[in-house]
Amino acid sequence: MKKRVRFAPSPTGFLHVGSAKIALINYLFASKSGGDFVLRIEDTDIERSKQEYEESILESLDWLGLEYDEGPDKKGNFGPYRQSKRLEIYEKYIKKLIETGAAYPCFCSEEELKKEKEKCVEKGEAPKYSGKCRKISDQKRREKLKKGDDYVIRMKVDDEGEIKFEDMIRGEVVFDKKEIGDFVLAKNKKKPLYNLACAIDDHEMKMSHVIRGEDHISNTPKQILIQKALGFDQVKYGHLPLILASDKSKLSKRHGAVAVSEYKKQGFLPEALVNFLVLLGWSPGDDREFFTIEELKKEFSIDRCKKSGAVFNKKKLEYINSLHIKEARPERLAKLLVTYLIQEDLLNPKQSLEEYPPAMGAKGLKTSYKTKDGRDFSFDQIIGIAKEHQDRIKTLPEITEVADYFFETIEADFSLLQWKDMTEDEVADCIDKSINILSDIKTWDKKQVSKSLLEKANEYGDRGRFLWPLRAALTGRKNSAGPFEVAYLLGRGEAIKRLKQAKEIL
Ligand code: GLU
Repeated sequence: MKKRVRFAPSPTGFLHVGSAKIALINYLFASKSGGDFVLRIEDTDIERSKQEYEESILESLDWLGLEYDEGPDKKGNFGPYRQSKRLEIYEKYIKKLIETGAAYPCFCSEEELKKEKEKCVEKGEAPKYSGKCRKISDQKRREKLKKGDDYVIRMKVDDEGEIKFEDMIRGEVVFDKKEIGDFVLAKNKKKPLYNLACAIDDHEMKMSHVIRGEDHISNTPKQILIQKALGFDQVKYGHLPLILASDKSKLSKRHGAVAVSEYKKQGFLPEALVNFLVLLGWSPGDDREFFTIEELKKEFSIDRCKKSGAVFNKKKLEYINSLHIKEARPERLAKLLVTYLIQEDLLNPKQSLEEYPPAMGAKGLKTSYKTKDGRDFSFDQIIGIAKEHQDRIKTLPEITEVADYFFETIEADFSLLQWKDMTEDEVADCIDKSINILSDIKTWDKKQVSKSLLEKANEYGDRGRFLWPLRAALTGRKNSAGPFEVAYLLGRGEAIKRLKQAKEIL
């Protein structure tokens, strides 16, 4: 049978990295077996659900590359894929549950329930509904309903026995029915609550497996009871551990960024976040750490998902990100880096942003830019910068620190230009030679620039005596990319201008 799994977020917040991990595991589980991955929006909590959150969740899934086969914005045979559009389906089942006596209306007021709860606590018992409204006669029930008394709908759960299920990750899980009590299924016939809507949809949407966070494990016996009462086949469950913060509590806002969109803003690549998240829930069985999503689709297996929670370690994420930056195509990287260079005012697009959005497809490629100090800068130059720096940065915005000298005026003094014991005259001579070499180059290409400068450097016993002053004059820095690459990427005019400026301070 074809495997069908779903990711079922409630649009009550941005996509949390923990939820992204759940989505990812479901996506890989389906991909591995050629099954279906469905997106279902669980928006029955109308007050807390917001359109902007739904949009942002969809955007984050898209950014991560977790494409679903069916969902609210896709065709499918089991829609609608938004719970607020499925109320009639739930109503039909609520009626059935009441008719068969599996559920009943409960008229207890909030105050009564509160008192009951307090009594339980006093006795040292877990709070549980007494089942008072179960005992109301049919006649009285009809009268109350006719009168329009407020009610909720409760599931009848007897005290005898256990609910058992085989969890794909945790093995056998057992719940004592006594501890469950008559839980609320719906606020009224038209307002189902999570457990009811979820159990119905998992059946109606023909889910074969439900893989979700361990925070839902106490809901599973309730959903199983609903499925049984409605005569549905039972779904297979798997509960994944939550992502923990370094203090071993559940990762939440108070620990810093938790939304996928925030990691995007901070300059992480989607494939790096995917790689990092999968390692928080799964292990390949050896010590490999770098995975592309295509590799994961082949290698993933639910049996290797861990039982215990893993700690979210940002340093590790940065490390994984650095590996993916190294592997990224320079053209793609350049498009992404432009955004941060513009944000830091190091670059300005020559055209208006609306007309030629940078980092957004072919038009962006043709966009040219002005540097902070007013020079023209082409997208090809940015690609070159991306190539030179992709093994030097852990996150995208770091480009603005390591490569700022390409875009703004620099200052170099003698102490910076001087290599070891070089005198001012020696430094000046070396700079003169560099100016001549760069002026004489016929075709300005990277190979030629490197070759000409290297030939000169080789004339020195210690190449640093030529290359250090050159590099320092071009960058104004102790650490930077190599002198040949910097000279080439700056362009002849700017490189010579910087060398002349260095000469002047000597
Ligand atoms: N709407 C639930 C949540 O966002 C989904 C739970 C489930 O996967 O069943 O946590």
